[in-house]
Amino acid sequence: MDTVFVKDKTFSISITQDEIAERVQTIAREMAQDLEGINPLFVVILNGSFVFAADLLREFNHPCEVSFVRVSSYEGMQSTGTVTEVLGLTQDIKGRTVVIIEDIIDSGTTMSRVTEILKAQSPADLRICSLLVKPDNIKVALDIDYRCFEIPNDFIVGYGLDYDGLGRNLPAIYTVCE
Ligand code: 5GP
Ligand code: MG
Repeated sequence: MDTVFVKDKTFSISITQDEIAERVQTIAREMAQDLEGINPLFVVILNGSFVFAADLLREFNHPCEVSFVRVSSYEGMQSTGTVTEVLGLTQDIKGRTVVIIEDIIDSGTTMSRVTEILKAQSPADLRICSLLVKPDNIKVALDIDYRCFEIPNDFIVGYGLDYDGLGRNLPAIYTVCE
Protein backbone atom coordinates (compact mmCIF):
# COMPACT_ATOMS: atom_id res chain seq x y z
CA MET A 1 0.00 0.00 0.00
CA ASP A 2 1.41 3.37 -0.99
CA THR A 3 -1.00 5.39 1.09
CA VAL A 4 -3.08 4.60 4.17
CA PHE A 5 -5.84 6.43 5.99
CA VAL A 6 -5.49 6.51 9.79
CA LYS A 7 -8.27 8.12 11.84
CA ASP A 8 -8.63 11.37 9.90
CA LYS A 9 -5.38 11.74 8.00
CA THR A 10 -3.72 10.30 4.92
CA PHE A 11 -0.19 8.93 5.23
CA SER A 12 2.16 7.89 2.43
CA ILE A 13 4.75 5.13 2.52
CA SER A 14 8.15 6.25 3.64
CA ILE A 15 10.07 3.11 4.70
CA THR A 16 8.95 -0.24 3.30
CA GLN A 17 8.73 -3.55 5.15
CA ASP A 18 11.74 -4.87 3.20
CA GLU A 19 13.84 -1.79 3.95
CA ILE A 20 13.02 -2.07 7.64
CA ALA A 21 13.78 -5.80 7.77
CA GLU A 22 17.15 -5.36 6.08
CA ARG A 23 18.24 -2.50 8.29
CA VAL A 24 17.00 -4.13 11.51
CA GLN A 25 18.99 -7.24 10.65
CA THR A 26 22.14 -5.17 10.04
CA ILE A 27 21.80 -3.38 13.38
CA ALA A 28 21.06 -6.65 15.22
CA ARG A 29 24.24 -8.20 13.79
CA GLU A 30 26.26 -5.14 14.78
CA MET A 31 24.91 -5.39 18.34
CA ALA A 32 25.56 -9.13 18.40
CA GLN A 33 29.22 -8.53 17.52
CA ASP A 34 29.56 -5.84 20.18
CA LEU A 35 27.73 -7.74 22.91
CA GLU A 36 28.74 -11.36 22.41
CA GLY A 37 29.43 -13.16 25.69
CA ILE A 38 28.03 -10.34 27.82
CA ASN A 39 24.39 -11.34 28.46
CA PRO A 40 22.99 -7.83 27.96
CA LEU A 41 19.68 -6.72 29.43
CA PHE A 42 17.48 -5.14 26.77
CA VAL A 43 15.09 -2.60 28.24
CA VAL A 44 12.24 -2.11 25.78
CA ILE A 45 10.20 1.07 26.10
CA LEU A 46 6.50 0.38 25.56
CA ASN A 47 4.25 0.85 23.73
CA GLY A 48 5.83 2.05 20.51
CA SER A 49 8.88 -0.24 20.50
CA PHE A 50 7.12 -3.57 20.69
CA VAL A 51 7.30 -4.40 16.97
CA PHE A 52 10.88 -3.19 16.56
CA ALA A 53 12.04 -5.07 19.66
CA ALA A 54 10.38 -8.30 18.51
CA ASP A 55 12.10 -8.18 15.13
CA LEU A 56 15.45 -6.92 16.42
CA LEU A 57 15.81 -9.39 19.25
CA ARG A 58 14.92 -12.40 17.12
CA GLU A 59 17.96 -11.45 15.00
CA PHE A 60 20.18 -11.15 18.11
CA ASN A 61 21.55 -14.64 18.36
CA HIS A 62 23.35 -14.56 21.74
CA PRO A 63 22.10 -15.04 25.29
CA CYS A 64 20.32 -11.94 26.56
CA GLU A 65 17.49 -10.86 28.84
CA VAL A 66 14.58 -8.62 27.98
CA SER A 67 12.55 -6.33 30.21
CA PHE A 68 9.62 -4.11 29.27
CA VAL A 69 9.09 -0.70 30.81
CA ARG A 70 6.83 2.26 30.46
CA VAL A 71 7.89 5.84 30.69
CA SER A 72 5.43 8.23 32.23
CA SER A 73 5.81 11.97 32.08
CA TYR A 74 3.82 14.49 34.03
CA GLU A 75 4.07 18.15 34.91
CA GLY A 76 5.81 18.43 38.26
CA MET A 77 4.77 20.64 41.14
CA GLN A 78 7.91 22.72 40.73
CA SER A 79 8.47 25.11 37.87
CA THR A 80 11.18 22.74 36.66
CA GLY A 81 8.78 21.26 34.13
CA THR A 82 8.23 17.65 33.25
CA VAL A 83 9.02 14.79 35.60
CA THR A 84 9.75 11.41 34.09
CA GLU A 85 9.43 7.98 35.71
CA VAL A 86 10.49 4.57 34.45
CA LEU A 87 7.86 2.02 35.48
CA GLY A 88 8.14 -1.75 35.54
CA LEU A 89 11.88 -2.34 35.71
CA THR A 90 12.09 -5.24 38.12
CA GLN A 91 15.66 -6.40 37.39
CA ASP A 92 18.69 -5.18 39.28
CA ILE A 93 20.77 -3.44 36.61
CA LYS A 94 23.80 -2.71 38.79
CA GLY A 95 26.91 -3.89 36.93
CA ARG A 96 24.90 -5.03 33.89
CA THR A 97 25.24 -4.06 30.26
CA VAL A 98 21.91 -2.43 29.50
CA VAL A 99 20.60 -1.56 26.04
CA ILE A 100 17.55 0.71 25.88
CA ILE A 101 15.32 -0.04 22.90
CA GLU A 102 13.21 2.90 21.74
CA ASP A 103 11.00 3.50 18.72
CA ILE A 104 11.86 7.12 18.00
CA ILE A 105 14.06 9.87 19.36
CA ASP A 106 12.56 13.24 18.52
CA SER A 107 13.65 16.10 20.81
CA GLY A 108 15.60 13.55 22.85
CA THR A 109 14.06 14.73 26.12
CA THR A 110 12.49 11.39 26.99
CA MET A 111 15.65 9.39 26.26
CA SER A 112 17.81 11.85 28.13
CA ARG A 113 15.67 11.47 31.28
CA VAL A 114 15.50 7.68 30.93
CA THR A 115 19.29 7.40 30.69
CA GLU A 116 19.69 9.64 33.74
CA ILE A 117 17.33 7.44 35.74
CA LEU A 118 19.00 4.19 34.67
CA LYS A 119 22.53 5.55 35.12
CA ALA A 120 21.67 6.30 38.74
CA GLN A 121 21.32 2.52 39.22
CA SER A 122 24.98 1.97 38.21
CA PRO A 123 24.88 -0.28 35.14
CA ALA A 124 28.35 -1.28 33.88
CA ASP A 125 27.45 -0.02 30.41
CA LEU A 126 24.37 1.78 29.13
CA ARG A 127 23.61 1.89 25.42
CA ILE A 128 20.83 3.40 23.33
CA CYS A 129 19.23 1.72 20.33
CA SER A 130 16.53 3.61 18.43
CA LEU A 131 14.64 2.57 15.33
CA LEU A 132 14.20 6.17 14.22
CA VAL A 133 15.96 9.45 14.97
CA LYS A 134 14.88 12.94 13.92
CA PRO A 135 18.34 14.57 13.94
CA ASP A 136 17.05 18.06 13.09
CA ASN A 137 14.93 18.13 16.20
CA ILE A 138 17.29 16.83 18.89
CA LYS A 139 17.67 19.37 21.67
CA VAL A 140 19.99 17.50 24.05
CA ALA A 141 23.36 15.79 23.75
CA LEU A 142 22.75 12.05 23.36
CA ASP A 143 25.12 9.27 22.47
CA ILE A 144 22.93 7.02 20.30
CA ASP A 145 24.86 3.80 19.83
CA TYR A 146 22.53 2.12 17.36
CA ARG A 147 20.04 3.77 15.02
CA CYS A 148 18.25 2.23 12.07
CA PHE A 149 16.98 5.31 10.23
CA GLU A 150 17.27 9.08 10.37
CA ILE A 151 14.09 10.80 9.25
CA PRO A 152 12.89 14.40 8.69
CA ASN A 153 10.76 16.25 11.23
CA ASP A 154 7.45 14.93 9.90
CA PHE A 155 4.94 12.88 11.86
CA ILE A 156 5.13 9.16 11.10
CA VAL A 157 3.01 6.14 11.96
CA GLY A 158 3.27 2.35 11.68
CA TYR A 159 5.61 -0.48 12.74
CA GLY A 160 4.59 0.06 16.37
CA LEU A 161 4.14 3.83 16.28
CA ASP A 162 0.66 5.26 16.63
CA TYR A 163 -1.46 8.20 15.65
CA ASP A 164 -3.90 8.69 18.51
CA GLY A 165 -3.70 5.00 19.39
CA LEU A 166 -4.18 3.81 15.82
CA GLY A 167 -1.80 2.50 13.18
CA ARG A 168 0.61 0.49 15.34
CA ASN A 169 -0.18 -2.65 13.34
CA LEU A 170 0.87 -1.20 9.99
CA PRO A 171 3.86 -3.26 8.82
CA ALA A 172 5.69 -0.32 7.20
CA ILE A 173 6.42 3.29 8.20
CA TYR A 174 4.21 6.04 6.81
CA THR A 175 4.57 9.84 6.83
CA VAL A 176 1.63 12.20 7.21
CA CYS A 177 0.65 13.92 3.96
CA GLU A 178 0.68 17.72 3.51
P1 5GP B 1 11.11 13.09 22.55
O1 5GP B 1 11.13 13.10 24.05
O2 5GP B 1 12.35 12.49 21.93
O3 5GP B 1 10.81 14.45 21.99
O4 5GP B 1 9.85 12.26 22.14
C1 5GP B 1 9.86 10.93 21.95
C2 5GP B 1 8.43 10.42 21.86
O5 5GP B 1 7.62 11.28 21.06
C3 5GP B 1 8.40 9.09 21.19
O6 5GP B 1 8.59 8.04 22.11
C4 5GP B 1 7.03 9.08 20.56
O7 5GP B 1 6.08 8.64 21.50
C5 5GP B 1 6.75 10.52 20.25
N1 5GP B 1 6.98 10.86 18.82
C6 5GP B 1 7.89 11.74 18.33
N2 5GP B 1 7.82 11.83 17.01
C7 5GP B 1 6.84 10.98 16.61
C8 5GP B 1 6.29 10.64 15.32
O8 5GP B 1 6.68 11.13 14.25
N3 5GP B 1 5.28 9.70 15.34
C9 5GP B 1 4.82 9.13 16.48
N4 5GP B 1 3.84 8.23 16.36
N5 5GP B 1 5.31 9.44 17.70
C10 5GP B 1 6.31 10.36 17.77
MG1 MG C 1 8.31 5.99 22.55
